[in-house]
Amino acid sequence: MTNEAFDVVVIGGGPGGYTAAAKAAALGGKVALVEKRSLGGTCLHQGCIPTKTLLKSTEVLETVKKAKEYGVETGSPEVSLAKLLSRKQAVIKRLNTGVEFLMKSSKVSVFQGEGKITAVNEVTVSTPAEQKILKTAKIIIATGSRPAFIPGLIPDGEKILDSNHALMLTDIPNSLLIIGGGAIGVEFASIYHKLGSKVTLVEAMEQILPFADEEVSSGLRQLMAREKISILTGAKVSGITPLEDGLVVKVDTPKGPQEFKVDKVLVAVGRRPNMENLGLEEIGVELEKGKIVVDSGMATNVPNIFAIGDAAGGILLAHVASAEGVVAAVNAMGGHKKMDYAVVPSCIYTSPELASVGITEAQAKSQGIQVVVGRSQFTGSGKALAMGENKGLVKIIADAEKGKILGIHILGPQATSLIAEAALAIRLGATAEDLAETIHAHPSLPETVMEAADQAVGLLKDNI
Ligand code: FAD
Repeated sequence: MTNEAFDVVVIGGGPGGYTAAAKAAALGGKVALVEKRSLGGTCLHQGCIPTKTLLKSTEVLETVKKAKEYGVETGSPEVSLAKLLSRKQAVIKRLNTGVEFLMKSSKVSVFQGEGKITAVNEVTVSTPAEQKILKTAKIIIATGSRPAFIPGLIPDGEKILDSNHALMLTDIPNSLLIIGGGAIGVEFASIYHKLGSKVTLVEAMEQILPFADEEVSSGLRQLMAREKISILTGAKVSGITPLEDGLVVKVDTPKGPQEFKVDKVLVAVGRRPNMENLGLEEIGVELEKGKIVVDSGMATNVPNIFAIGDAAGGILLAHVASAEGVVAAVNAMGGHKKMDYAVVPSCIYTSPELASVGITEAQAKSQGIQVVVGRSQFTGSGKALAMGENKGLVKIIADAEKGKILGIHILGPQATSLIAEAALAIRLGATAEDLAETIHAHPSLPETVMEAADQAVGLLKDNI
């Protein structure tokens, strides 16, 4: 058993943990990062990056299938699942090397093994071979999350899958029923549909992507339905019977019970924070509903212990984990920084993409805020038409008095990139007029954002 002393020890090397470690080191701290698997976390190995890499392959497939429409003659494309998966692994490996390099260049000491808080100023790192004790002034918990499951429906990786299994399939199921119409369920619906599976998506709430603006969410639903992805909302799986060659899934829908015979079921019903065997109870870290309770500076109730990212169970997004990591690192190094969740872009990588920032029209209504709503469709965009991707719209929610932008919701091509301008506009307190009067390049997709802003300006009381 060896001992070393640090200013900050971070447990978990995902986007929250490695960002926190790099920031604390940049602020002059002697920092250790403990990771039991591989640097990059869920985001790199089982989340953001592998899904987007697979999505890109399916987009290429779609483009080649539609090549004739663009005046290009090709043969009929074939998917090599093995090559598609090996490309995904290559992308992961490259980024993993990048995170390793970042830790090295930041002078963060990386310890491979399972971290456990064994005292308020001590983390024990265990591997099968040895234990190391790291003494430390501050601890940041960044242990992330793993797939949640429905009691009685435990994913086995064969017929019942979770999102980790769905990223490693070695054959494409003829039919797939996905339980959960949140970001993960909807993205996998898009991937597997394009790979040729007959996809059924079952969501308990009244709309898919329940957190999204109703108009853009239902717009996406219509486009997915047009592509023959079957979507059931207000519906719940009530039973599953395994068969020799698949499963029969019973679903209670608003129209009555229905049965689906499918090859596989994917359970995408949310995530559970990783908190087991961390020593949290022994040390007295306060938990509520299975989440670590933190204040706006990401501090737990135990002095000198912080928690960030999926482990803290707030908004489960990689960029939120990283932002929380920066806040925790600054505070661990003696600063006084607070998390600001007012401007968090939320992106769904379907085709077309859906991206949102700020409040929805329904939230404005429920908060009693008088708003105007500017809209612009991509059908009128020269760039979108040239791309052959002119479905969707930009919707801007602005306060009815001064036109201050409160929310922007985009369904359309490259929505996940277009949302950056929207986030900056809200962050800087821009009005619809500011956005409408900013000269945008032509032809470009952001012109549609400008046009939606212009429409909102026209709806303001005093618009001259
Ligand atoms: P994680 O990334 O989960 O990292 C935690 C790390 O801690 C892991 O490496 C784990 O091995 C390690 N660990 C756990 N316990 C210990 C221990 N005791 N000792 C040592 N190490 C430990 N978010 C987006 O923003 N955009 C997306 O497009 C997106 N797509 C997603 C797609 C899927 C399929 C999934 C599942 C998630 C997606 N997410 C996306 C969410 C995103 O992956 C998470 O929000 C993000 O990874 C959280 O980062 P984190 O650092 O908190 O935890």
